[in-house]
Parts: sequence; C-alpha cells; structure tokens
Amino acid sequence: METCRTLAYPIHIGHGLLSSLPALVPELATAHRIAVISDEIVAPHYAGRIAAALGEDRSTLIAIPAGEEHKTRVTWAAITDVLLEARFGRDSIVIALGGGVVGDLAGFVAATFLRGVPVVQIPTSLLAMVDASIGGKTGVDTTVGKNLVGAFHPPLAVVADLDTLETLPVIERINGLAEALKHGVICDASYFELVASIDITADITTGIATGTDQTDWQRVVARSVAIKSGVVASDEREHGLRKTLNFGHTIGHAVEQLMEYRVPHGACVAYGMLVESKIAIALGLCDPALGGQLRNALERLGLPTGMPGILTPEAIVDATLSDKKARGGTVEYALPSRCGAMAGAERGYGTPVPREVVVSALLRL
Ligand code: NAD
Repeated sequence: METCRTLAYPIHIGHGLLSSLPALVPELATAHRIAVISDEIVAPHYAGRIAAALGEDRSTLIAIPAGEEHKTRVTWAAITDVLLEARFGRDSIVIALGGGVVGDLAGFVAATFLRGVPVVQIPTSLLAMVDASIGGKTGVDTTVGKNLVGAFHPPLAVVADLDTLETLPVIERINGLAEALKHGVICDASYFELVASIDITADITTGIATGTDQTDWQRVVARSVAIKSGVVASDEREHGLRKTLNFGHTIGHAVEQLMEYRVPHGACVAYGMLVESKIAIALGLCDPALGGQLRNALERLGLPTGMPGILTPEAIVDATLSDKKARGGTVEYALPSRCGAMAGAERGYGTPVPREVVVSALLRL
C-alpha cells in the first residue's frame, strides 16, 4: 500500500484495503452510526466486505440505482430522508462506495446532512480512483447543466482498493483513462505516453474489449492521484491552477448534458479534450502536434474522436453557456500549450473563446 499525504487527508492506494478499513480510517471506530451509500451494481460486490470490516450492525447500506441520471436532487433528497427517518445524528459518518456518481452524490449528502457530517471516499471505478474521489468537490446534476448544485466537502480519507477494479467492466476502465490522459496533458508528457500505451481497447458502442490488460494499475492511480492532489493543494477553491483540471470538460459537460447523461463522463471528456486542443491550436496558444497526439491516443484506447451524430456545433456551444465557468455570458476554457503544459497562467488559466472559434473547431474534427 502507498499513501499520498499531499492534501489534508490521506489517500490510500493498494490491494486488500477494504478489510483493513477501521485501521486506515480510525474515525470509523468511534462513529456512532455509519451510512454506506453505494449503487445497485457495486453494493452486491463490496458492501458485505465493508460491513464485515466495520463489525456487524455498525453500518446501514443505502444502494441507489446506478448511473449518471440518478445524480440528482431527487436522489439526494431520498437518501437524506432515509438518514433523517433512521435518526442518524451529527456523530455519523458517510461512506461513499462506488464510482464518481456515488462519490459526488454521497459527498453532497454528507456536506449538507445536519449542516455537514464526515465522508470517507471509497472509489471503485478507475475514474473515481484517479480523479473524482480527490479534491472535495461534491454535487448533483440538473436539467440545465452538470454539477450545478454542490459543495466543497473534503473527505476524512480516500481508500482506493485496487482489488475492486477486478469487477469493473473494461469500458469503464477506458473511461477512467480519459481523465488519466488529461492529467498527462496538463502537466506530465511521459505519463500521457504511459497511459496512451496501455494495452486495452474497446468499441465504445458495443463494449467489446480487446487487449491483454497487464496494466500496473497502482502505478497509474498513484501518478494521477499525485498530479491531482498537487494541483488541488495549491488551489483548493479553483481560483487559478485548479481550473487546468477542467481541460476537456467545457465541451465534455455540454455533450453529456445534451445526450441526457447516456454517454459516459470519461468518453465526453475525451472528445472535449480533442475539441479544446483544436481551439487552443486555432488561437495560436498550443503546439499543433498535440492534436495528433491526442487523436492517436483516443483512437488506440477506443475513446470517441467525433461528435455524437445527433448533435450540432451550435447546440453544443449553446449548452456550454450554462457551464459554471461562464463569466458575463462568455465561457472560459482551460487550454493546453502542449502535451504536458497548460496555457494562460497570466489569465488564471481561464481563456475566453469567441463562439465562432468553438464552432469552427467542432466542425473541423
Ligand atoms: P459511475 O459512478 O456511473 O460508474 C460507472 C459504472 O461503473 C456504474 O455503472 C457503476 O455502477 C460501475 N462500477 C463502479 N465501480 C465498479 C466496480 N468496481 N465493479 C463493477 N462496476 C462498477 O461513473 P464514473 O465514471 O465512475 O464517474 C463519473 C462521475 O464522476 C461523473 O458524474 C462526473 O461528473 C464525476 N466526477 C467528479 C469529479 C470531482 O472532482 N468530484 C471529477 C471527475 C468526475
């Protein structure tokens, strides 16, 4: 096991960690009540292990239907009502057991329940291990846009048990690799190459996978955790450097929302990175080589490089206007300068982009 201690809370990464949960998170031993919030796919695999580790009858499982379409205020209210009716008090701890959807939602429940109770993040998807469980952002989606209602609520600890990846479908591993590629683009070109050379690929529409997957997942998760933690540590509330983590997300979130959350987050971010690198190149901010590097990596892994056929560039640009990063009606993008570095430090890493430049980048892909 290794532990990243860059942030105020530890991030443990290794194998077999679920069974040593009370040792890794001592606060769990003294909590009066523990709510394990999970989804109906993850819970049957791992909730029993957690209950056994915590001691019988010490925890209550709340399992929601899986999927981004349930990351809503309706589900938040339903979970909160269960906790209220079961008389959970301020001496309770929430455990978020699942992918990024559960992490964001359970984190938001914890942030708001009785004005805030602690949360322990136990990410079980690759995307949640490398990105979503770290940094304290929690929240839910609305029909107007993604993650528009939420709170900063850093966890007590993050426990990434790599054994849980055994049951994660290949397509979800590949979705997680989109965020890992992003970490490479923003600050580590050799990590980008490492992720781009991972030997798994899948047809995103059929889910059929090929490759041998001999991946050293500990190495991948640990490097992404180090990158994200380092960025968050220097700018927790996203006034500057943390905006770089939004690379690919302005276009990605717009596509996700327009596709009514039926296309996975990682796939939308992958396409978003390609478009936003084209924008950066068109503005003369970015080494043109990045476009080809990204396209090759996404094609190799089976991530999308084209716009979903039913969407138009105009609709995508309109949808970006409800992004949290919009200022005075203009959307600010986090844009790269090359593989391994971001542009716009002097503007706090937020670059306003004229509408026609975005439309043109969408059309030219
Ligand atoms: P997800 O939570 O929907 O998980 C994807 C699928 O994998 C789900 O069906 C889930 O049930 C299943 N799954 C998860 N772990 C499994 C396991 N071990 N075995 C079998 N199945 C498993 O989606 P995701 O890709 O994990 O996360 C995407 C979400 O994360 C989005 O809502 C995104 O906005 C959010 N996110 C948040 C942050 C943040 O900083 N808070 C950062 C990046 C992404």
